[in-house]
Amino acid sequence: MTGAGAGRSRLVVLAGPTAVGKGTVAASVRAHHPEVWISVSATTRPARPGEVDGVHYRFVDDAEFDRMVAEGELLEWAVVHRAARYGTPRQPVEEALAAGRPALLEIDLQGARQVRASMPDALFVFLKPPSWEELVRRLTGRGTETAADQARRLETASEELAAEEEFDVTIVNHEVHAAAEELVALMTPVRGHESP
Ligand code: 5GP
Repeated sequence: MTGAGAGRSRLVVLAGPTAVGKGTVAASVRAHHPEVWISVSATTRPARPGEVDGVHYRFVDDAEFDRMVAEGELLEWAVVHRAARYGTPRQPVEEALAAGRPALLEIDLQGARQVRASMPDALFVFLKPPSWEELVRRLTGRGTETAADQARRLETASEELAAEEEFDVTIVNHEVHAAAEELVALMTPVRGHESP
């Protein structure tokens, strides 16, 4: 792990392989750190039980997603797991940063690469599972996907694990709350503890 960029940007991009628990870590940040602004992505996938439009995602149809892309409203977007489109609305990110709030994007690797190109000063954090076996266990244990979906997601995950070296910092997700606290500590460095 290197600390390149730590303490210099208030925009943090959290990515990592599928099923590593990015969403759960972001949920823990949401629950315990109201000072952190978390982007709400637009997606064309249908809502899962318990997901609330405008809170977990903005659920849109293909025509609305097309419109957002055409009008340049998305900071980045990608087709994830060859299944649905996901994108980060640009304006709320700019407003949060302008207001001086630490801002968090929890997005896939393709999206992180796009943000790296357009906002290179952001801090890129890779969330990694303790082991491949643990990742498989988490993915198959979630129970919300069909077998075909799971196989597709595992294939994506193995490619995504190889991307760790592109990131500024790695956090190993041994335990959700600890990982979330590590992440928030990167966004709000304690005075005097910044890297030289
Ligand atoms: P899920 O469908 O399980 O909520 O999310 C699937 C994947 O989409 C996750 O890897 C998540 O990080 C990614 N994702 C969520 N929002 C965005 C976004 O706005 N942009 C991109 N590129 N990926 C996203």
